[in-house]
Amino acid sequence: MQKYHTVVVGAGPGGLACATLLAKAGKDVLVLERRRWIGPKVCAGGVTWSGLRQRLPESLMQKTFPDQHLFTRWQRTVISAAQPLVSTVNREELGQWQLKEALGAGVRVEANHPVGRISEHSLEAAGKGFSFQYLVGADGSSSTVRRHLGLATRQVGVGLNLFVEGDFPRMEWHLDDRLFNNGYAWVFPHRGCASIGAYAGRLAVEPGVLRKNFLLWAAGHGINLESAKMQAGLINYDYQGWRFGHRFLVGDAAGLASALTGEGIFPAIISGEEAARTILDPLYPAPEMARLLARHHLHRRLVAFTGSSLLACRLTMETLVAALRVGAVSFNALEMAG
Ligand SMILES: Cc1cc2nc3c(=O)[nH]c(=O)nc-3n(C[C@H](O)[C@H](O)[C@H](O)COP(=O)(O)OP(=O)(O)OC[C@H]3O[C@@H](n4cnc5c(N)ncnc54)[C@H](O)[C@@H]3O)c2cc1C
Repeated sequence: MQKYHTVVVGAGPGGLACATLLAKAGKDVLVLERRRWIGPKVCAGGVTWSGLRQRLPESLMQKTFPDQHLFTRWQRTVISAAQPLVSTVNREELGQWQLKEALGAGVRVEANHPVGRISEHSLEAAGKGFSFQYLVGADGSSSTVRRHLGLATRQVGVGLNLFVEGDFPRMEWHLDDRLFNNGYAWVFPHRGCASIGAYAGRLAVEPGVLRKNFLLWAAGHGINLESAKMQAGLINYDYQGWRFGHRFLVGDAAGLASALTGEGIFPAIISGEEAARTILDPLYPAPEMARLLARHHLHRRLVAFTGSSLLACRLTMETLVAALRVGAVSFNALEMAG
């Protein structure tokens, strides 16, 4: 049995952020990752200015957009700002950059180690046993650690994504309640390609229907998806807590993604860091976590309200976009860092 101060399950943005901070404070930290290679994840790679854009190196930015093009049934509008509102990152590059930071801080990372059985102070991965004082579940929307804690996951969104080759000049958000209910379709340009996809709550739009509606939407916008591979992923926003004695949940494992937009990279990194600070000092008040939870709650309430009827959905979406257009609401009201 190998002994560690903290074992982190999952080498996504949340797990690596948490492990790096703990190792910098001198703790003996192990990250166990089920995949062979760190980084790749079904994701559009959008990061916001008030969220991560300023914390990540410029070299990770694929493309940057001060203008956001919003389309609803009744409106089309451009929201502009002096600073870049949203940039895109490649998830493999983000993961490899975070991995380098973690290894540099002294974290031990074991890829190809899917975590199976977990008990109070130990777990098994790849046929080996590991014991810990603290356990951090950073293992995404289908988290094994979350299941071990006995938490169900009901409130999830489904995201569809394809990387389509070509030069896409605009960052676009398409809110069409007939197709996506209170979700949306997007065009997020990267270098030489764009992430094109759609997001909706799983209960609001059943996954098969979301796929069908997304293809209809793409065809209607002259977007050819034939040469690209469609991938799907769950986005967990069913938050039920992050601190369970000596065990913690962060990021998607904790259900901290936005119910409204599906934004989850920023919540994963912030919650990972706040979990690390709390492990180092149990009396740490976790103010960034409190802000994140307030924003998460707001997005979840907005989605519950707009999901209650198509009329509520359409009127709210149209009002929100009109308010953005006239500047009554700022774009970062939609962001998890806002
Ligand atoms: C289609 C789509 C588009 C998205 N677009 C955006 C976007 O533009 N911007 C944004 O901010 N967010 C976006 N998201 C959400 C974002 O991808 C997630 O919220 C974010 O990756 C969560 O980070 P995490 O560290 O919590 O988990 P993850 O990134 O999911 O990492 C979890 C890690 O744990 C590993 N793991 C899982 N189980 C085990 C196990 N048993 N043992 C060991 N390792 C395990 C996984 O392999 C993975 O590496 C999108 C999601 C989808 C599906």
